[in-house]
Amino acid sequence: MQPEPLPSVAYFCMEYGLHEELPIYAGGLGVLAGDYIKSAGDLRLPLVAIGLLWRGGYSHQHIGPDGLPLDSDDARELAHLLKPTLKEVSVPIEGREIRCQIWQVDRYGNAPLYLLEPIQENDRWMARRLYGGGERERVFQEMLLGIGGVRALAALGVAPDIYHFNEGHAVFAGLELIAQEMAKGRDFETAWGEVRSRIVFTTHTPVEAGNESHPIDLLLAVGAGRGVRREDLVRLGGDPFNMTVAGLRLAGRANAVSDLHGVTAREMWRHAGEIAPILAITNGVHPGTWQDPRIRLALHGGDLWDVHGDLKDELLREVARRTGVTLRQDALLIGFARRAAGYKRGDLILRDPSRIEPWLKTGAVQLLFAGKCHPQDEAGRRLVQSLVQAVRRYPKSAVFLEDYDLRLGRLLTRGCDVWLNNPRRPMEASGTSGMKAAMNGVLNVSVLDGWWPEGCKHGVNGWQIGDGRNETDLHAADERDMRSLYEVIEKEVLPAFGDRVAWTRMMRASIEMAQWSFSSHRMVRDYFYTLYRVPTMGQMAVG
Ligand SMILES: *Cc1c(COP(=O)(O)O)cnc(C)c1O
Repeated sequence: MQPEPLPSVAYFCMEYGLHEELPIYAGGLGVLAGDYIKSAGDLRLPLVAIGLLWRGGYSHQHIGPDGLPLDSDDARELAHLLKPTLKEVSVPIEGREIRCQIWQVDRYGNAPLYLLEPIQENDRWMARRLYGGGERERVFQEMLLGIGGVRALAALGVAPDIYHFNEGHAVFAGLELIAQEMAKGRDFETAWGEVRSRIVFTTHTPVEAGNESHPIDLLLAVGAGRGVRREDLVRLGGDPFNMTVAGLRLAGRANAVSDLHGVTAREMWRHAGEIAPILAITNGVHPGTWQDPRIRLALHGGDLWDVHGDLKDELLREVARRTGVTLRQDALLIGFARRAAGYKRGDLILRDPSRIEPWLKTGAVQLLFAGKCHPQDEAGRRLVQSLVQAVRRYPKSAVFLEDYDLRLGRLLTRGCDVWLNNPRRPMEASGTSGMKAAMNGVLNVSVLDGWWPEGCKHGVNGWQIGDGRNETDLHAADERDMRSLYEVIEKEVLPAFGDRVAWTRMMRASIEMAQWSFSSHRMVRDYFYTLYRVPTMGQMAVG
């Protein structure tokens, strides 16, 4: 029997984290998308990716004397990273045609990535800074990505079987596809049913407020509705128009990004009525990008401990270069790098001075923090400030590293001894930095949230903190997880760290756990061989 050919896929995402030299990503979503298209490239899967060219990047974030973040533009020369396609598209926004050129990026072993950029100098502001501007600009950006993306594919002669929207930013592509069907004389109902069979949607946000929505009036005023009537737009996304709900209703199949997130997402969107079934495909990370080649070699016959020592040295040298602080090579080094968001509880380990101070003052434990917040997120800015201020109390053993990016991410997830992750369960959809760490034998100490319930063997390849329950009383949950964190460090991590044989055995178990199960190769195969191929709601009758 001939195997069925794989469907061809167009992957849409607002950001791509391929390399630090191409700063068109903000954080986890973009890094995931970058890893996704690298694995699709490695495995030669039929996929092209669509995004926007953010000339101004995201943000460089340094810390001022008061501990508050100071943001600056990323104005690098990008020309040598981009290939012109000599194709262009135009996107009608507020009654004007915004002409965009299409660049190609293919230098990272990735499946072809096409980036749109407005051509006219006075249109460029629309897509200069990733996640910059107010709501109206955001809608323009999403129109460029969604509507422009569908048109770019046509201009490039690509006719995909599947349109994969990675998060809600691309849902206007679904409206564009509906508009194309309606232009052939179909009614809305039929057009919707038709496009559903071609759309796949991935949700990443288990926090209701984190799911973007826009007033229907705004969408109608700027032309994002693509001629779909108001009442039909409301049927898709509600009013205000929720981009995630619309994604789930436009898609014939959908997924969450870990098993636990699948449970959370199905519960969260139960009230959304008729939506695509939400499966779970756990994220993964690109081994060629994230696993140090020396670790891979040592796994099959070298000394993992020695290699780890070299990687730790490299990190400590960079810390010294950036901050002037010389950390100890022989003392436990705990890393924590996250976007500043309250639920991630970056300061949890610092909350009880009576527990953490003795370790930090004797130097038995050392802490490395990194992370940015969105420049316009006031609460996030305050979180960074309070973390920086707390860290400054222990200048010899705790460090905050500024301007977290892919390069720093690589150094940290190779060179720390332990990787700490303590979100309020179940608010971390997946998390991927812990997978990078695990792949390098950096042992996870983590709440059983996101991917970790699938990977954790307590005491064998890392450690769990907390008891794996969802707690509605936030104060109680914080208290419980904090106590558990100190207990695990004191009774399990520090003793294991003192035993080189035991530690090396755990490193090996960690690497073996991560390098297959949490590789982006496994992830893209799951998408291609299951999600992209399962029968869809769109193949049943709609309405
Ligand atoms: C991997 C990575 C992330 C995402 O990691 P999380 O564990 O999801 O926070 C964010 N930023 C950078 C620079 C990364 O390398």
